[in-house]
Amino acid sequence: MIQIINKDACCGCTACASICTHKAITMQSDELGFFYPKVDKEICTNCNLCEKVCAFNEHYDTSCNFKEPLIFAVRHRDIHEIETSRSGAAFIAVSDYILERGGVVYGAGFTDHFKVIHKRAVNTEQRNEFKGSKYVQSDLTGIFEQVKADLKMGYTVLFSGTACQIAGLSSFLGSSLKKNLILIDIVCHGVPSPYIWRDYITYLEKNINRKL
Ligand SMILES: Cc1cc2nc3c(=O)[nH]c(=O)nc-3n(C[C@H](O)[C@H](O)[C@H](O)COP(=O)(O)OP(=O)(O)OC[C@H]3O[C@@H](n4cnc5c(N)ncnc54)[C@H](O)[C@@H]3O)c2cc1C
Repeated sequence: MIQIINKDACCGCTACASICTHKAITMQSDELGFFYPKVDKEICTNCNLCEKVCAFNEHYDTSCNFKEPLIFAVRHRDIHEIETSRSGAAFIAVSDYILERGGVVYGAGFTDHFKVIHKRAVNTEQRNEFKGSKYVQSDLTGIFEQVKADLKMGYTVLFSGTACQIAGLSSFLGSSLKKNLILIDIVCHGVPSPYIWRDYITYLEKNINRKL
């Protein structure tokens, strides 16, 4: 069963919780709000699937990787898209292509009170919420299962996230479902704490004496 002894070896991607058919794993926040898996030992059957799926596992499957990366510099042609995105809006160009062909797009958006979570979009209006960097760890609870269900239904899926989230999803899905899957991992030095983000919002609200 998965046990996080060294926090550096877990990015909170939820692959382990998602693969557990017994629902023995829940993602719980530590004192800074970062997500880590917690195993209910009463329910766990010690099948070890959670350990195998972990992208921090030394047997992580890299067989789909290119031997040498192909590198392109990309910038959207529409200046409005660049101005409303974080960088060159490559994400917008690729996701437009997917949406125009009836595919679905996943990315980081917001839920109640600016909490950052991953979401599913089927049109540009929903997708536009994913524009821009949210400098905080996003909550992926239930998302990997949703991606899998979409792929099984025959949708083309574009999933965007940090490199470690992408590695987790890729490992969770295995090779058979990846034909219609496109992965975009953003350049990322690491995600800041969700509780610092939450406390910052509380601080701002105290200063202006109303809800943001
Ligand atoms: C946590 C974090 C760390 C970063 N570190 C670096 C860095 O070290 N060096 C550097 O040059 N750039 C860094 N960036 C910037 C990032 O690489 C750019 O935001 C990205 O390249 C924007 O490309 P775009 O204009 O095509 O995307 P946009 O059109 O602006 O779309 C934003 C994309 O980022 C994704 N995204 C936004 N927030 C999150 C999040 N919290 N978790 C997962 N996915 C998210 C969205 O799903 C979407 O795909 C970081 C961004 C984040 C969120």
